[in-house]
Amino acid sequence: MHPTSTFVPSFLKAITDNTEESFRSIMSEPSPGVFTFEMLQPSFCELLVSEVENFEKWVNEAKFRIMRPNTMNRYGAVLDDFGLETMLDKMMESFVRPISKVFFSEVGGATLDSHHGFVVEYGKDRDVDLGFHVDDSEVTLNVCLGKQFLGGELFFRGTRCDKHVNTGSQSEEIFDYTHAPGRAVLHRGRHRHGARATTSGHRINLLLWCRSSVFREMKKYQKEFSSWCGECLREKKERQRASLAATKWETLVAIYFLTVHDKRVAEERERIYDMTSFCIINAGLVLFMLMYS
Ligand SMILES: [Zn+2]
Repeated sequence: MHPTSTFVPSFLKAITDNTEESFRSIMSEPSPGVFTFEMLQPSFCELLVSEVENFEKWVNEAKFRIMRPNTMNRYGAVLDDFGLETMLDKMMESFVRPISKVFFSEVGGATLDSHHGFVVEYGKDRDVDLGFHVDDSEVTLNVCLGKQFLGGELFFRGTRCDKHVNTGSQSEEIFDYTHAPGRAVLHRGRHRHGARATTSGHRINLLLWCRSSVFREMKKYQKEFSSWCGECLREKKERQRASLAATKWETLVAIYFLTVHDKRVAEERERIYDMTSFCIINAGLVLFMLMYS
């Protein structure tokens, strides 16, 4: 894999500069946690597509049964199985990990250490769409390789932990994206998504599921994921709001009792003054009467 024949110059420059600013300069984030950018050279996309087609042809002719990419895609191939494992490992280490370290550090973006790389095909005589799901990855790179197609939009519906995977979406989490050849989408594996029907043509995507063994180990001991799960975050905010409301109420009650108490103290003081002056006057009177009687 020669970088200049694989990646577009803007992408290579951003990777070389390796700063958040350089990544931001080539990316757009149309919805929180979904990053899109120009990545692969058209010639590299074509090369990969023809490799996959040759592989498919060979499989069909030899009537081989091959492992399909995952439980949901019946068309496509695992790239690691036909000699691209080293290339994809390099792609993860040198290109996906530096970006993920900046944007997805809370899900192990800095410690991505294994991958599952495959292509999926959609269209006539292929899978048409892909249901709503999460990936078995910490970070997913999805690059459109071509070819000509209509439809096939990706839809995103917010990131969720295992416990909250079936909860509803907030309006700001609803996002649809139309993929374009050579362009990449990078998102958390737990970002729920799917693909609408490819209505005509043939759509081929390269998927790189990147995983972090460190993150997976740490996750076992955590119960709450408000740094990336939309529902954990919503629940946390709700708890904070409730506790703030309770604190406000407690303060109000305290102020009320203090005021009442102060008033009583003042009344008591007044009463004592009255009593004292009454006694002094009376004593004066008695003294006066004694002196002049
Ligand atoms: Zn959660």
